[in-house]
Amino acid sequence: MSVIIKNINKKYGDFVAVNDISFQVKEGEFLALLGPSGSGKTTLLRIIAGLELPDTGEIYLEGIDAQNKPVRERKIGFVFQHFALFKHLSVFDNIAFGLRLKRPKLTKQEIYLRVDNLLKLVHLAGVGGKYPSELSGGQRQRVALARVLAIEPKYMLLDEPFGALDSKVRKELRRWLKKLHDTIGLTTIFVTHDQEEAIEIADRIAILNDGKLVQLATPLELWESPANVFVYDFLGNYNIFKGYEIEDGKLLFSKPSSQAHMTQVYSRPYEIGIERTPSDPRFFQQATLTLINKAGPLIKLEFEGKEETFYLAEIEKSILETMNFKIGEELWLKPLRYCQFKKSTVLSE
Ligand code: ADP
Ligand code: MG
Repeated sequence: MSVIIKNINKKYGDFVAVNDISFQVKEGEFLALLGPSGSGKTTLLRIIAGLELPDTGEIYLEGIDAQNKPVRERKIGFVFQHFALFKHLSVFDNIAFGLRLKRPKLTKQEIYLRVDNLLKLVHLAGVGGKYPSELSGGQRQRVALARVLAIEPKYMLLDEPFGALDSKVRKELRRWLKKLHDTIGLTTIFVTHDQEEAIEIADRIAILNDGKLVQLATPLELWESPANVFVYDFLGNYNIFKGYEIEDGKLLFSKPSSQAHMTQVYSRPYEIGIERTPSDPRFFQQATLTLINKAGPLIKLEFEGKEETFYLAEIEKSILETMNFKIGEELWLKPLRYCQFKKSTVLSE
């Protein structure tokens, strides 16, 4: 049940919300649409669902042009962030709602069995008699999913379905959703602005920015080979090291022969080496240790360098214990690993 979208464009007045986006979602795939708020994720999802018309572009569901297919016939299940359940109906009746509209009519017994199965599937067996107000936020979203699954969709489109829930429940639900997806094998498009969420559950991630598709790749590919600074930035914290030349794959800070040769590289906090006396001064940048935060699996260190530069390092507890770094100390930092990007893709310097 593949989804192919080709050259989708959508403007609101002069504002370009979706800018020439094309991609393919494979049958049974779990694709995350990831991007900051306002990047066009919801608009694109609504276009795929048929709830919004694109200005130009094509959508193919199972290889068939969906343009003239009414929403009902697209076999798409859509769950929003604030999915409204019917307050005056029990959980059972909420899930049964779509089933009762089915033609030819299902018998009472058939409806009962289907709802019962769906309740088990979303781990809510036994709560069919409750009302939405008696459920937690996480339970309500699972009922919403069951209600959508009841119509036996071929595609699931989820727009930040866990966005309104607290982070612990969100983490539980995304693991649960991933398992559910693997069990029932629906082609799923999942919108989120949370990179950790996307990395954890998606087979592939499409990163959007300003209505454009920036990169579409597996979580590992994005992590290891970000297409540009935007993707790198979006996936986590980093440091910028300004050096002068790269020799044998190493950044040189010495020999500032000319500004023209100045280059910069990007390192994640855990890719930084710290020394008290530099073993090889050519590769090091000096900075003052300003903060040590021991809460968490890695120790976080903050540094201030020359000319208002700022560095963030993450090291093992054992290294801190051995080295016994102190706040206020002048230390030497070096990128152990780094990324470089072409000038044209550098967003901020
Ligand atoms: P996201 O879901 O990534 O946060 P949206 O797709 O909701 O982004 O919106 C993308 C941009 O399009 C936003 O700047 C938003 O203000 C604009 N937009 C969305 N829907 C409309 C609309 N109906 N009318 C005008 N502008 C809209
Ligand atoms: Mg949105």
